[in-house]
Amino acid sequence: MKLTVYGTEYRRAAAGRRAKALALALLMLFVCALGPSCAAERPAERELFLMDTYMKLRAYGGKAEEGLDEACALMSRLDSLLSVTNENSEIFALNAGSGQPTPVSEETFELLSIAARVSAKLGDSFEITLRPVSKVWGFTDGPMRVPSDEELASLLPLVDDDKLTLDPDVGAVTLPAGMQIDLGALAKGYAADKAADLLKESGTEAALLDLGSSTILAFGSKPDGTKWKIAVQDPKNPGVYAGTLGISSGSVSTSGGYERYFEQDGRVYWHILDPLTGRPADSGLLSVTVLSGSAAEGDALSTAIFVMGVDKALELRRDGGGFEFIAIAADRIYATPGAGAVFTPMGEYAEVPLEIVN
Ligand code: AMP
Ligand code: MG
Repeated sequence: MKLTVYGTEYRRAAAGRRAKALALALLMLFVCALGPSCAAERPAERELFLMDTYMKLRAYGGKAEEGLDEACALMSRLDSLLSVTNENSEIFALNAGSGQPTPVSEETFELLSIAARVSAKLGDSFEITLRPVSKVWGFTDGPMRVPSDEELASLLPLVDDDKLTLDPDVGAVTLPAGMQIDLGALAKGYAADKAADLLKESGTEAALLDLGSSTILAFGSKPDGTKWKIAVQDPKNPGVYAGTLGISSGSVSTSGGYERYFEQDGRVYWHILDPLTGRPADSGLLSVTVLSGSAAEGDALSTAIFVMGVDKALELRRDGGGFEFIAIAADRIYATPGAGAVFTPMGEYAEVPLEIVN
């Protein structure tokens, strides 16, 4: 019967389609087995320039695209609130103020609260009120120059985070007149934490947020099941890696003199300053990489450990704990046990002594 013939043809065509679908499915399976190039596993990605830094955000899962759009908008907002040089930022207004209580946004208030808490813990090594001193060095605004001893001595009394007052009832900040804040040591970490919170809320399963190599935050499992591989820069040869860290999740923050510096009369002057002297930190370290659950705290810690050195950092770790670090000196690498266990040195660093410190 015609109908049967038609049915047979239909069944043949359907069988052909099924065979094609099966072949396609097998091909997809094969491609997926090869690794992360699988279309279903391809991450959503964004590249942006904020906070003076090229950032790369990568997220996996059904809601990744929307999540990244929201995260980018949030980070752009944080940049405009927290910039020390943008005349429209809240920090700029605070720095130009006359010492009166100033209401600020929820985010600025939250970050200042974190900074105040962390600063109290980190003692003399970390002061967000260092801005009057860092300004005359010109590391952020230029021109870079070596200030005189007298100049530094006149500015150092303005550096004291204890004088910052935060009123949570009205969300206001009071900074004595003449004092100035620079959140450069932890703003990127805070931005990474906030972006990760937003991504998780919007249903993103996993993400790697790279805020200019010096602040990295990862959460969730990579679709291929491998650990996130984070490069640690060689502080003597920027662009070259000293090694890699394999982590399941958390933040990796690096501070190093190589990130911003100038040379004068054969001497190198870098942007991380010792608040006690107002001069570039001189702990003997070339870079410090901190692994921590909170990127804001990790960011502050890497800056502070670069100033205080390994012994004080270990004291601090014994007191409160909660972080691991790798510190690169000219002749050796110091690593706390948790950091040493996930660090793989590369190139000439494979020959440098690796000292586990606790
Ligand atoms: P990071 O790259 O995270 O180590 O931060 C460096 C930035 O933090 C500098 O560019 C300054 O704006 C600021 N800074 C420098 N030294 C200190 C310090 N001892 N405490 C707090 N902030 C600092
Ligand atoms: Mg920092």
